[in-house]
Amino acid sequence: MNQHHLQDQHAGAVTKIGAGLPQPPVFKSLAEERQHRKERLAAGLRLFAKFGFDEGVAGHITVRDPEFTDTFWVNGFGMSFGLIKASDLIRVNHKGEVVEGNHPVNAAAFAIHASVHAARPDSIGAAHSHSTYGRAFSTLARKLEPITQDACAFYNDHALYEDYGGVAVEVDEGEQIAQALGSHKAAILQNHGLLTVGQSVDEAVWWFITMERSCQAQLLAEAAGTPVLIEEEAATLTASQVGSHVSGYVSFQPLYAKITREQPDVFD
Ligand SMILES: [Zn+2]
Repeated sequence: MNQHHLQDQHAGAVTKIGAGLPQPPVFKSLAEERQHRKERLAAGLRLFAKFGFDEGVAGHITVRDPEFTDTFWVNGFGMSFGLIKASDLIRVNHKGEVVEGNHPVNAAAFAIHASVHAARPDSIGAAHSHSTYGRAFSTLARKLEPITQDACAFYNDHALYEDYGGVAVEVDEGEQIAQALGSHKAAILQNHGLLTVGQSVDEAVWWFITMERSCQAQLLAEAAGTPVLIEEEAATLTASQVGSHVSGYVSFQPLYAKITREQPDVFD
């Protein structure tokens, strides 16, 4: 087989892979879309539990309601990520009132997520927890470096929020975090942990998982030596590949398939 033939084959394969990517579904009703978002959110929480991202009562994932768009669904205060079902989620309005569901809201969940969802109309999902590597990395007051292909998802696309001021229960602090986040997909909250957003809850959860692992990878690499940076041009290209909205959505799907097969009660 000559070189030309190989290249043709390669190009053909790339086209086929691109054409077969999973697409976000189209819904017949807002009720159907709401249920879909709640199931994805509950599955995201189960994944956070599986990966050990829970720490006591800290951490929250939210998804904007498709109909009442100034409200969002969230895990109730004090509920285990690992047990949560779609029917356990609560809906919270922009005043921090629970308008649907039977559990109290975590004040920090409201303060951070309400501000982020308000400041970023494009954010459908948002995720935050005190995962170990993100938390450790956040103490260094630095951003992730483009040292791996995966870390390039955050190249020029994450912020550092430096003003840690106690548990974020005040709306003021939520607004400052949202301001620091700007138009990016993620923020490192100094001395606290990670925050990610997405155009779907799928995307927000995926960015969180991969960002946590990129924090781990950078901590490991820097503990062992001096990592080589990917050069700007390659990092920018890679960011457009692994850091796109489509890439975030697609990357979540195998995790969703596995967790919902293992834990089907998430749909209850
Ligand atoms: Zn927190």
